[in-house]
Amino acid sequence: MSVLEERGLLSGKQGGTTGYKLVPVEGGGLFLCIYLIKREAYIMIIVMSPTSTQDDLEKVQQKILQRGLQYHMSTGESRTIVGVIGDKKAIANLQMNAFSGVEKTVRITEKYKLVSREFKPEDTIVDVGGVKVGGGHLAIMAGPCAVESMDQLMEAAQCVKAAGAQFLRGGAFKPRTSPYDFQGLEEEGLQMLRQAGDAVGLKVVTEIVNMNDIGLLCKYADVLQIGARNMQNFQLLKAVGKTQMPVLLKRGLSATINEWLNAAEYIISEGNENIIFCERGIRTYETFTRNTLDLSAVAAVKELSHLPVIVDPSHGTGRWQMVLPMSRAAIAAGADGLMIEVHPHPEVALSDGDQSLRPENFRVLMDEVHRIAQAMGRK
Ligand code: PEP
Ligand code: MN
Repeated sequence: MSVLEERGLLSGKQGGTTGYKLVPVEGGGLFLCIYLIKREAYIMIIVMSPTSTQDDLEKVQQKILQRGLQYHMSTGESRTIVGVIGDKKAIANLQMNAFSGVEKTVRITEKYKLVSREFKPEDTIVDVGGVKVGGGHLAIMAGPCAVESMDQLMEAAQCVKAAGAQFLRGGAFKPRTSPYDFQGLEEEGLQMLRQAGDAVGLKVVTEIVNMNDIGLLCKYADVLQIGARNMQNFQLLKAVGKTQMPVLLKRGLSATINEWLNAAEYIISEGNENIIFCERGIRTYETFTRNTLDLSAVAAVKELSHLPVIVDPSHGTGRWQMVLPMSRAAIAAGADGLMIEVHPHPEVALSDGDQSLRPENFRVLMDEVHRIAQAMGRK
């Protein structure tokens, strides 16, 4: 059931964000509610220069109204700001920079709607075949970066299960920076994941890199991972949005929180609300760590969205020594879970050995994380 249906807002569906509902009214009869989320609401800010005149401002206002748009004024001490609202195309054609007295224009990105907390104040709990993610439940996903062999995967699966994880992770399709690096075992890897997951009782999370593989992935996986490099692959986002499969949406290498939330909006607006965000570090000027793990994003996403958010400190730091402290911090910051790379023998891993935990270190991590979660009253 979609968010809209659950909230009783949608029974006749047209394009994911529009619908109608027949509501019985007291004393008989039906009331037709039309529910519409405007895709076109768009905002541009026009900053007037400190030397602009009242005449300049009036010309700007006139042009906005002539184009059927609306404006809001904000008059500061040294600057006047005009906020424009309305149709995206009409705003794009305004050409306000050519007007006298206009210092600059700033377009505000189209706002995500269905993923926002404004739209749904209560936490969404994503149910992965009985395992809950979000709403105070702690989801731990662990396993090797890439599926390399059945032996490697089984050893990892047994260890992460014994330590208390609920999900086995592992890439069968690997989006590698270099084409000469190990690209994954593909369908054979998916089969191994399913087999190992079923053998020990773990849900399977694995990455989808190509929308044409969606049928294949749905056959073997419980959660479809969209990797950092594909966060803005809009065709892929729409394709997974057309399924009801739980989706783990990683944050892009250089994505702002706004872009990340909008990526999720692509999925949810197609009808799939089973989305779990995953903060995995972003690119900064720091070189000691592979990425900079942005734990403030956890608090931001919790404030802005009703969807669960987990943290991947393995890719977030690139250093196994930092995975434990960052996991503690992530849970303390309110993350709904963790994704951790665990390899039975990191020294021979085909990818990401430097950031993979050995089984014994993963056990320590699970113990510490559970103690922190308990102290915070988590389930
Ligand atoms: C991964 O989880 O192995 C992976 C490739 O992650 P990311 O997309 O975050 O780099
Ligand atoms: Mn990896």
